[in-house]
Amino acid sequence: MGFIDLIENLVFPPKCANCGELLNVELAKKQTEALCVACRAQLESEKAIECQRCGLQMRFCRCMPKKMEKAQCTALLKLVLYRPADDKMKIKPFIYSIKHSYNKVSFKFVAEQMRELLIPEMRAYSLAPKDCVIAYMPRSHKNKAQDGFDQSLGMAKELSEITGIELVRCFKRKIFSKQQRDLNRFERQLNMSSAYELLDVDDKIKDKTAILVDDIVTTGSSMAACARLLYSEGAYSVFGVSIGITEKSKKIKHKTIDLFVFL
Ligand SMILES: [Zn+2]
Ligand SMILES: [Zn+2]
Repeated sequence: MGFIDLIENLVFPPKCANCGELLNVELAKKQTEALCVACRAQLESEKAIECQRCGLQMRFCRCMPKKMEKAQCTALLKLVLYRPADDKMKIKPFIYSIKHSYNKVSFKFVAEQMRELLIPEMRAYSLAPKDCVIAYMPRSHKNKAQDGFDQSLGMAKELSEITGIELVRCFKRKIFSKQQRDLNRFERQLNMSSAYELLDVDDKIKDKTAILVDDIVTTGSSMAACARLLYSEGAYSVFGVSIGITEKSKKIKHKTIDLFVFL
């Protein structure tokens, strides 16, 4: 840890991004650990919840919404099943904080978690970092203006740094003349599927496996729309990587797991 970081740690001691407790000295020193020991254990047990569709733990589940399947995405990697209405889900404040407060340690932490999902997957498909590019789903102008940053870009940048995979800015959001709330359901869906525009990417995407980073995947329509644009630029395949996917919580089996976390 550098001198500046040391002073910063003294003035602003690092806190758990989930419960707000001060991190112990060892964790604080790492500067990539966003969670205290207890909250980290909560995250690990969330990652181990079984997917109802494939039966695998969330961290191994590759299921994706129908819309992404239709858009020929290869897989959706995710850490957790995001259940906003489920009180048993104890790491919701952390997910909320990533969306709404800028915290570099949290971005680094999530990127490291994503890397752990990605590396075995790349190995399985015999992909080297040079065969891939990282892309991200930019937030709407309104959301970006509200919070002052783009968390998908934040996570994508860190993921690029630790994996050595090039980050390519592929998309921008269109500005709509009509408010989303003034549209009916069909119009809204149509709107979302055309909400992204491809930037000039030269040949950077061609024949590459694109890794699309987003925070929470809901219907998958945004990822599907972006995947189509990437394929139109000659992408070889498209993987989604996210913190979580939403689903109706009653569909999911909650299995108790004996968990030991070594930090
Ligand atoms: Zn905590
Ligand atoms: Zn699954």
